Amino acid sequence: MSSKPPLKTLIAALVALSVLLGMVQADASPPKVRTLKRGAPAAGARKPTPHDKTRPKAASPRAAKPKPDPSRAVKASQAALATLDEDFRAKVERVLEALEAKGWEPVVVSGRRTREQQRKILAAGRSRTLHSHHLCGRAADIMDRRHGWKGLASDPNFKFWTDLGAAARAQGLVWGGDWRKFKDVPHIQLGPKCDLEVAASPPPPAQGR
Ligand SMILES: [Zn+2]
Repeated sequence: MSSKPPLKTLIAALVALSVLLGMVQADASPPKVRTLKRGAPAAGARKPTPHDKTRPKAASPRAAKPKPDPSRAVKASQAALATLDEDFRAKVERVLEALEAKGWEPVVVSGRRTREQQRKILAAGRSRTLHSHHLCGRAADIMDRRHGWKGLASDPNFKFWTDLGAAARAQGLVWGGDWRKFKDVPHIQLGPKCDLEVAASPPPPAQGR
């Protein structure tokens, strides 16, 4: 009897507990709403400053997106390589080997394309023709996966591009960097002709990015 807590104390404890729970809930809900907003920092992350808006990549490294898995670029490259015409593919493989021997990390970012894919690329200004060798699997766009188009690689005279040109010429291929009107430095292709009737017939292949 004397060990039992008095009813008053129990009620007081329950009230205190419910108040506490209410506080916790009230405290927990705003971050929940905030995390639903696109681009909002996760609960506990540093508050963004106006400076962050202009330089999102310089923001807290903890909030930065994880870097893409390097094996993804390599897998996409292998998939793109597999879409190529057999004769051309063998030459592209030699080109990739030559670049790797120089310490580059080349990946095929585009192989055979459907007409629809080509149309979109043309519309985006990344090609100048609807009659691309990509349509018949006789063209490939190659980049160093660490550089892509950015930084040093935005210069058409970047060493990777000129090395790619040299390796392509060594295989008897045409390099887009040698074109006068539209320098297409990641682009290499086989032969001057592409049979578009044949190109139109194969089913849409899996396309790497
Ligand atoms: Zn191309």
